[in-house]
Amino acid sequence: MITITDKSKCCGCNACANICPKNCIKMKRDEEGFLYPDICQDECISCNLCESVCPEINVRAEVPFKQDGYIVQIKDENIRRESTAGGAFSAIARYIIQSGGVVFGVVMDDKFLAHHTYVESELELQKYRNSKYVQSFVGESTFKQVREFLNKGRTVCFSGTPCQIEGLKLFLKEDYKKLITVDVVCRAVPSPLAFEKYIELQNKCLGTDIINVRFRDKYFGYKYSTMNICTAKNNWSYHRGIESDPWLRAFFSGICNRPSCYECNFRKRYRVSDFTIWDCFSVCNFSKKMDDDKGTTRMLVHTSKGRELFDKIKEEIKYVELNPDEIVNGVKEIFEPSKRNPKRDEFMADLNILDAEKLFKKYFPNTIKVKIKRFIRIALYKLRIYKFVKNLYSIILKK
Ligand SMILES: Cc1cc2nc3c(=O)[nH]c(=O)nc-3n(C[C@H](O)[C@H](O)[C@H](O)COP(=O)(O)OP(=O)(O)OC[C@H]3O[C@@H](n4cnc5c(N)ncnc54)[C@H](O)[C@@H]3O)c2cc1C
Ligand code: SF4
Ligand code: SF4
Ligand code: SF4
Repeated sequence: MITITDKSKCCGCNACANICPKNCIKMKRDEEGFLYPDICQDECISCNLCESVCPEINVRAEVPFKQDGYIVQIKDENIRRESTAGGAFSAIARYIIQSGGVVFGVVMDDKFLAHHTYVESELELQKYRNSKYVQSFVGESTFKQVREFLNKGRTVCFSGTPCQIEGLKLFLKEDYKKLITVDVVCRAVPSPLAFEKYIELQNKCLGTDIINVRFRDKYFGYKYSTMNICTAKNNWSYHRGIESDPWLRAFFSGICNRPSCYECNFRKRYRVSDFTIWDCFSVCNFSKKMDDDKGTTRMLVHTSKGRELFDKIKEEIKYVELNPDEIVNGVKEIFEPSKRNPKRDEFMADLNILDAEKLFKKYFPNTIKVKIKRFIRIALYKLRIYKFVKNLYSIILKK
């Protein structure tokens, strides 16, 4: 039976709750806002199935194999605009739907909780586009739904973080031919409770209730992507970047991540998924054939299933094939766990004490320095040299 004594040893993938034959594992929120398995001991029959599917217990050794590397842009410009990067995920998902399949991905609901759902129509795929920078709740029966669809002979595409994909694969045991998995390069997942506080803060600051958020909007272009908030009054006019939006600052500072993310066992190059996708901010370092300010996805294809599918979507995308060694070079988020912010525990303790305004003011105050940084970014954008400066920066740093 699973017992969580060290929270850094549970990534919250939900595989244990999905496999339990007695349904006696419920995912329970802790004081930091993360979900952990809570077992009803009276009902447990000690079958140990939960341990057998836990990716943190069954850590896989990394074995190199042949991979293909690409940079990708979906040809449909609207979809690309809505996507975080180049819309590679949508190209894969659209093909699955068109061939009668089902796609699982992450939505943000009206209570601002991210969780996994599935869709069977192209129109509904829209809600999966754009990364939600907060931990998604997989669900205590989502992996069972995946298995049911597969057992009925349907093709299933499942997207998520690397740990969620490893949990799903251990749960399924069998290597289903009709399962396509897509994982992201994953910096970390922050606390859903901290995100609720951010929404509370913005409701107050914007003077009205928030209707929707997009974590990576391209209003100022892909290279200066911003948090975008829609209220009943503002018509999506809130755009703030990593330098000044309190949530993006919190996310990129590593102050409220899940404990397992600081010791991540899944950030590796050779994965169990079919595709790994992530950002490409420096197309100019790889190819002169593609534009570079509307979003590009970097992609590793790990399996022959992935290769077959990639052939099928070639008509829908612009792509350049690259040496995989070249595209992973220098991508820290593939090789190293995220750094623990020294103030993390203090922030998490304050999460349950301070109101939203005091919390974010204490850790991410809107100082003169922040205002100057924002002013410089907007000025560079208005002078139309933001892209040039960013490119220069990425050439110098080879990012
Ligand atoms: C939590 C998180 C951290 C990331 N960290 C990095 C990073 O450090 N460096 C980097 O280059 N790229 C990172 N990415 C990936 C990047 O943001 C883009 O998702 C990726 O470039 C693919 O873009 P796309 O345009 O092809 O598809 P998109 O339109 O971005 O498709 C989004 C995909 O991500 C899934 N997804 C969205 N939110 C979540 C979530 N909370 N949990 C699990 N799955 C989710 C959706 O189901 C969908 O499959 C991260 C993504 C997430 C979700
Ligand atoms: S040991 Fe078996 S019954 Fe007990 S919690 Fe784990 S899966 Fe459920
Ligand atoms: S299976 Fe997933 S949710 Fe369950 S204990 Fe292991 S890591 Fe945590
Ligand atoms: S950093 Fe690692 S443990 Fe955290 S969500 Fe990403 S893959 Fe999972």
